Amino acid sequence: MVIVYTNFTLFDAKSGNMVENQSLVAEKGSITYAGDTGGYTPTTEDVVHDLGGKTVLPGLMDLHVHIGSPFTGGHDERHYLRTKSDQRHYYALSHAYSYLKAGFTTIRDVGSGGKWAPALRRSIDQGIISGPRLQVAGWMGQWGDQERMGPDELLRGSRDSSEVMTGTEGVMHMVRDKKADGFDMIKTATTGGVLHGMESKVERSLWRSEELEAMVDEAERLGMYVAAHAHGDAGIQAALRAGVRTIEHGSLMSEESMKLILEKGHYLVPTHSAPNLIKRPEVRKNLPPEVVEKGDYVTKMAIQQHRIAFERGVKIALGTDAPVGGQHCHSAEELELMVTQVGMTPTQALQSATVVAAEAIRRDDLGVLEVGRLADLVVVNGDPTQDITIMQDPAVIEMVVKGGQIVVKNGVLGV
Ligand SMILES: [Zn+2]
Repeated sequence: MVIVYTNFTLFDAKSGNMVENQSLVAEKGSITYAGDTGGYTPTTEDVVHDLGGKTVLPGLMDLHVHIGSPFTGGHDERHYLRTKSDQRHYYALSHAYSYLKAGFTTIRDVGSGGKWAPALRRSIDQGIISGPRLQVAGWMGQWGDQERMGPDELLRGSRDSSEVMTGTEGVMHMVRDKKADGFDMIKTATTGGVLHGMESKVERSLWRSEELEAMVDEAERLGMYVAAHAHGDAGIQAALRAGVRTIEHGSLMSEESMKLILEKGHYLVPTHSAPNLIKRPEVRKNLPPEVVEKGDYVTKMAIQQHRIAFERGVKIALGTDAPVGGQHCHSAEELELMVTQVGMTPTQALQSATVVAAEAIRRDDLGVLEVGRLADLVVVNGDPTQDITIMQDPAVIEMVVKGGQIVVKNGVLGV
């Protein structure tokens, strides 16, 4: 069946231009025509949707989500103790729906615990349930790490304590296990975290360089890549030197690291939504004092350093770290933060969530609405290149199309 979307203004993610009076034809999920409305004459068998001059964006992408984790409002310990670990599957389902409704048709899950995320991805791909396209990461924390957060029951639930990931052999073995489990890529950490335990220092990096190199080599050999959580600069540099493709957070990125990431042509995923948690008084009071202190410092530095990085030409892709900063599916707020905190124009913010994000995760079939790519698009009532904040209004998202099919219309899923 040929589906035609006609009479719209296209956001050309490559050039950043808005192009009026466009049409797009989708067949078997992919775009077979994209251009002037006059350039394609529908047949009587075609299904034609006249979009009445509205704006069409490529489906948006959020590259840093923990899809199985709900927002706990700072009550992490209570949540972990009172939640069955299998409940993550149902949280993930509900979150998947919400991203699709918000116009985010591709989500990268960077670790939700357990081995179920590849099954969720497959269930969505097979059309068993609705959801965004998923790229899912197998988690490989730093062995002996300082990020062990919470009681032993939680730690046993989130990872198999028999896993040995030391030395190049151990690391390569683990990468192959992740491949066998069906993960698309590897997520590691090369520094401590903000919300993690008291001993979790953002300046400390535990992997040895040969271990990180073995991880990247083995992942690349098996058709995967590595993303690294890294706040402090030692960990950022260690990750970049080893060939890690996406630096997550990158809060204390130095000028030297900026040079390195530019040389490699790799990507920064800044996650400015995450510190919203620390800023909210009702959540702030629930957090340990050392977490608040660390969070305030890292947030201040990230805004300062990411502005410089963007000025230097570092490629920045959108990611939120949801649900750290708040409920899932508020990824459109990150578009605004790209403008207010990183210094992008609204057009550049949209590019960070489309063409740049697609390149970062090696999906050259997404991110741009052109012939040969997948027909994932969002119909927007208004012009987000003039006012990026409109994307946060659910009423503005008129229609979401995935693989050529309308999956959300006026906020209703599954039409
Ligand atoms: Zn995260």
